[in-house]
Amino acid sequence: VKKNTIKDIGEFGLIARIRRRYARSSDLALCGIGDDAASLRSPPRGHPTLVTTDILVEDVHFTRSHTTPYLLGIKSLAVNLSDIAAMGGIPRFFLLSLGVPQELSLAFIDRFYDGVAKLAETYDVLLVGGDLTAAPSFTINGVLIGDCPPNQVVYRKGAQPGDTVFVTGPVGDSALGLEILRQRGLKPRDFNAYGEATGRDKELLRLIRHHLAPEPPVLKGRKIAELRCATAMIDISDGLMADLGHIMEESHVGASVRVDQIPRSEAFQKWASLYHPQPLDLALGGGEDYQLLFTAPGKALQQAIADGRESDFPFFPIGKITPHSGKLSLITEDDRPYSPSCHGYDHFRPPAGGFHA
Ligand code: ADP
Ligand code: MG
Repeated sequence: VKKNTIKDIGEFGLIARIRRRYARSSDLALCGIGDDAASLRSPPRGHPTLVTTDILVEDVHFTRSHTTPYLLGIKSLAVNLSDIAAMGGIPRFFLLSLGVPQELSLAFIDRFYDGVAKLAETYDVLLVGGDLTAAPSFTINGVLIGDCPPNQVVYRKGAQPGDTVFVTGPVGDSALGLEILRQRGLKPRDFNAYGEATGRDKELLRLIRHHLAPEPPVLKGRKIAELRCATAMIDISDGLMADLGHIMEESHVGASVRVDQIPRSEAFQKWASLYHPQPLDLALGGGEDYQLLFTAPGKALQQAIADGRESDFPFFPIGKITPHSGKLSLITEDDRPYSPSCHGYDHFRPPAGGFHA
């Protein structure tokens, strides 16, 4: 008989399949998938271990009809990679637990793990375990373990008045991608089995892909950690304003941001006003861009430039840290205050009538 669904092979059959196809051997893992616990080599003495976990739930964080299994697999690891990156860390080991509806096809699971494995390979991360359970909707919980050289971890606390606020790249693409996805929907041939945009509307599909399968800022995070001048850092998952708010709260400072300085992609500038009445608010409030937001003293930046390292510092200054604890000022090009229509995403206080994908 042909085996098409999870039911046909069962829990242990599925674990064996995942192990066979996606487990890699490595000097770092003495034992990965297949025993009661993974046995992992510890980082060298003095290197802190970093651990993060994230949960994605069908119809809360994504809908199956508006993504592909491969892109969902990429996102499942990417969101965790982004958290390790935001500490300046090096990702190493991934554990992936799934709640799976019984009718889900094996093909869906295979393509999903192909996406996970592809991103794991790109960033040299090992899949070393997980768990499986039946569930009414597809539920994904990842745990990512990494480490960091001594004194390079960057926390949310530590921003000082006078520091410059930087962002590592354009923001707003993910929120715009989600808006396009909501309005346009997804067609069967928009992406192939390996996540490449194959449909027409290439520019729109790239924005949608940015939302469905973000690129985690792992290399940028390491670069910032190695420069050793960042005083605070966070990844932009809830939105620029909300995440800068987290730095302000942990550092007991305020910030003032020049909204015209916030980098936006060419595609964003071309398409945003067609899909949203206030494009700037997509960049300020929209989440899931997975760029890094960090603070550094101007002096440290000048030093990096004086040392001829400026090519290693390709980041965008967007504002300053102020002593006014908890106060975020948004300022326009002509020095007027700007008030946005939204403030970032909070799962327990979703916007009226809205949903989060
Ligand atoms: P236990 O019941 O002792 O938790 P399991 O049968 O759940 O053991 O798991 C056996 C092995 O398979 C463990 O190494 C576990 O980490 C691994 N494993 C289980 N589910 C997954 C999964 N979804 N992805 C990767 N490894 C998994
Ligand atoms: Mg188990």
